[in-house]
Amino acid sequence: MYSIGIDLGGTNVAFGLVSEDGKLVRKESVATDRNATAEGLTEIMAKKTLEFIDEWKVPRKEIRSIGIGCPGACDNESGILILTVNLPFRYTNIREIFARFTDIPVYLGNDANCAALGEALFGGGKGAQTCLAITLGTGVGGGIIIDGKIYTGFNGVAGELGHMVVRKGGIKCGCGRRGCFEAYASATAVIRETKIAAKKHPESLINELCGGDMDKINAKTAFDAMRAGDKTGTALVKRYRKDLAEGIINYINIFQPEVILIGGGISKEGEGLLKPLRKYVYKFSYGAKMLPRTRIEKAVLGNDAGIIGAAMLS
Ligand SMILES: [Zn+2]
Repeated sequence: MYSIGIDLGGTNVAFGLVSEDGKLVRKESVATDRNATAEGLTEIMAKKTLEFIDEWKVPRKEIRSIGIGCPGACDNESGILILTVNLPFRYTNIREIFARFTDIPVYLGNDANCAALGEALFGGGKGAQTCLAITLGTGVGGGIIIDGKIYTGFNGVAGELGHMVVRKGGIKCGCGRRGCFEAYASATAVIRETKIAAKKHPESLINELCGGDMDKINAKTAFDAMRAGDKTGTALVKRYRKDLAEGIINYINIFQPEVILIGGGISKEGEGLLKPLRKYVYKFSYGAKMLPRTRIEKAVLGNDAGIIGAAMLS
């Protein structure tokens, strides 16, 4: 048996054929029609899904389900996509619209949550029943997996792991609060802090690495400077690691998951980031000295995590 995983994005909609053991067997992607209505977009998704199933030559009775990772809040029980940020969905009954085209069951999940589910079951988590996954990118996305399933909260929007305050009265966050984890742990935060430090320390290697052009500073610049022995770069990375660790300790103290997975651009730093991070986390997280410890690992599925996780929705 197979499932179809769909990653509904503002630029592209990706469709994947996923086997029961989490292998992405086939993948196609189409541009998102930005002029279409919510109903129109859903109809396109349904028609394309059936087209791809035929193209992939899989008998329809071999397809267990269609799962859709949505960029916003959804209710899997009713099949309604409640709200999206960059697309026109508002209380759109996705399941009902799909049912006009096919009787294959349709399930919905938040896209970041789907990525977390994919990683937990078949990626860096490898079958972990309790898992938290965070993506350190433009923001901090995430998902909470409990007993192999996404924890959605009673209203569908749980798992906003980036919006936990780590510094009261700190930097203003997009959500309206100050001092959110996202404002310190995202790639955006690293870039912001690197630019500030470069201006403050003209002698730092950072200025040389970006050729004096602040716009060329990225989330890797501070790490590169640190590797070359630069004092400012080292201080930046140390502070970043500590901020990241404090958030992770909070998660462990609340959830005690088997594993916490870290994805997104910054996770490319790999063990260079994770090793010192674990050391700090295990020093302060509850129970880490006496009890089995939460593993802290890199996410491995990249952009495919969302499709694989969506296919595993039920
Ligand atoms: Zn926030």
